[in-house]
Amino acid sequence: MGNEQLEQLRDKLDQVNLEILDLINKRAELVQEIGQIKEKQGVNRFDPVRERKMLNLITDNNNGPFENSTIEHLFKEIFKAGLELQEDDHSKALLVSRKKKPEDTVIEINGEKFGDGNQHFIFGPCAVESYEQVAEVAAAIKKQGMKLIRGGAFKPRTSPYDFQGLGFEGLKILKRVSDEYGLAVVSEIVSPADIEKAIDYIDVIQIGARNMQNFELLKAAGDVDKPVLLKRGMSATISDFINAAEYIISRGNGNIILCERGIRTYEKATRNTLDITAVPILKQETHLPVMVDVTHSTGRRDLLLPAAKAALAIGADGVMAEVHPDPAVALSDSAQQMDIPTFESFVTELLKSKK
Ligand code: PEP
Ligand code: MN
Repeated sequence: MGNEQLEQLRDKLDQVNLEILDLINKRAELVQEIGQIKEKQGVNRFDPVRERKMLNLITDNNNGPFENSTIEHLFKEIFKAGLELQEDDHSKALLVSRKKKPEDTVIEINGEKFGDGNQHFIFGPCAVESYEQVAEVAAAIKKQGMKLIRGGAFKPRTSPYDFQGLGFEGLKILKRVSDEYGLAVVSEIVSPADIEKAIDYIDVIQIGARNMQNFELLKAAGDVDKPVLLKRGMSATISDFINAAEYIISRGNGNIILCERGIRTYEKATRNTLDITAVPILKQETHLPVMVDVTHSTGRRDLLLPAAKAALAIGADGVMAEVHPDPAVALSDSAQQMDIPTFESFVTELLKSKK
């Protein structure tokens, strides 16, 4: 007898569930219609005054057993779902996301196609110090058959008393070396106002870790037609990083290379902690090429090679590392830049491990 009654009540409950289902879908259709009218009128879809009125009407007519607060909570969820329905899937997926564009973005720089499935390399000094210093590194890079050189002319240093870089003088040196050695130049720009002028000297705009959330800089880089190497902020989550790239692409510039360069953790054995699994995550979630900077992530010369091998093994599109003719006298990052013989054996070992 009790079982029969239970079954009957369950049947009724199923019926009510289906009625609720039918009603919330009917409600959703009405919300969509309202959304279309609002879109034509150009008014905001979310209207808090209207939402308050709807909630008041509902709670005024609430005869229990649910408390008003519970009813408000339930209806707010329904309202929220309705609002989300109005934003089509389109706008929900980010422009950098693989959902939006399943195929890999391939960025051609001086004949190197970043994102084509092959591995690419960016070497060069931490900072531009003189023509001779950059030219010496350029010659070593060229000897390896490589096509890009890096070097900072604007150095965002932790201390204001440290070497700040040569600025536009540094960019001029890079341009001269680039012309003489046939190498494309990657260099960091720190101010939105410098972007327009700087793009005459460089081939890739680097946005550094300290500027990953400098939104005005991201927008300025997004407004020009020049590849961007975007480094992960030292305390940025992968989602923050992806959103920073979205700032650039949303302005029209989709030629973005993401660069994992280590994040700040409690670990002191390395300068930063290389978040190696960020590489496959970024590859899965975005269609952009992903590189690993082994210099700033490890801060240790003895770890450059194993970190670079790990980066390539886990699917990075390339590796960046710093090379200086005489690291001991370098004006920045002297502890971790490679000298030229070390660079040469680094490349040999790395290419050996690739096969
Ligand atoms: C650099 O690559 O020159 C640099 C300063 O690195 P990061 O912004 O990753 O610290
Ligand atoms: Mn450096």
